[in-house]
Amino acid sequence: MEKMNWRRFLVQLLPPQHCTLCAATSAAQVCDACTGALPWLAQENICPVCARFSPTGQVCGHCLKTPPAFYRTLSLLEYRFPANHLISRFKYGQQLHLADWFAEQFIQRLALTGTAADVIVPVPLHPNRLKQRGFNQSQLLSEKLARGLNRAHLPDLVQRTLDTSQQAGLSRKERTRNMRHAFACNGNVRGLHLAVVDDVITTGSTADSLCRTLLDAGAAQVEVWSMARTPDN
Ligand SMILES: [Zn+2]
Ligand SMILES: [Zn+2]
Repeated sequence: MEKMNWRRFLVQLLPPQHCTLCAATSAAQVCDACTGALPWLAQENICPVCARFSPTGQVCGHCLKTPPAFYRTLSLLEYRFPANHLISRFKYGQQLHLADWFAEQFIQRLALTGTAADVIVPVPLHPNRLKQRGFNQSQLLSEKLARGLNRAHLPDLVQRTLDTSQQAGLSRKERTRNMRHAFACNGNVRGLHLAVVDDVITTGSTADSLCRTLLDAGAAQVEVWSMARTPDN
């Protein structure tokens, strides 16, 4: 009689797991080879405040000239292939479980850099956008991070009062001006250190506006954690 293949039997009991990027069998949502090949941002050559490229890892010219409201940015990836693909899969809902993978990457990085944040807040979507999409990707991630890091999670602390999807046709300058009043803070943040979770940072004006709202409401310090940063801007 043929011996029963226990390994095959056990594997059949587990849900099939494949790498999101290359479809290879993998216990993790992104396999080791693909994880290694992602365009990770290295602390040594980015500005510690805004995560723009800075050859010696010093505070960049933008931040020296116009210091943003946040005092530091932790951004994991450069927003280019295949990181952009990975983030789209998460952001548009095909692979929501990537929140776990991204949270794990942040937790590993934060174990090295440390954080003073007592409270974690996601960048909120405008109610119109939330209705359309059904979920807020930054909130899925911030929830996992708060749990993993044992910090308070306040997803309703800030409301988005400006619907930026209605800004089409406006100049960059007009958009930036509008962004200044894009958020409202509904809670007491006096003296708190907050971390704001964003998906992709481009110009940084959204994060800046949100952090400024928190500082105006009395927060002591705000930092930004983002999955990725666009290479230019
Ligand atoms: Zn892979
Ligand atoms: Zn900078």
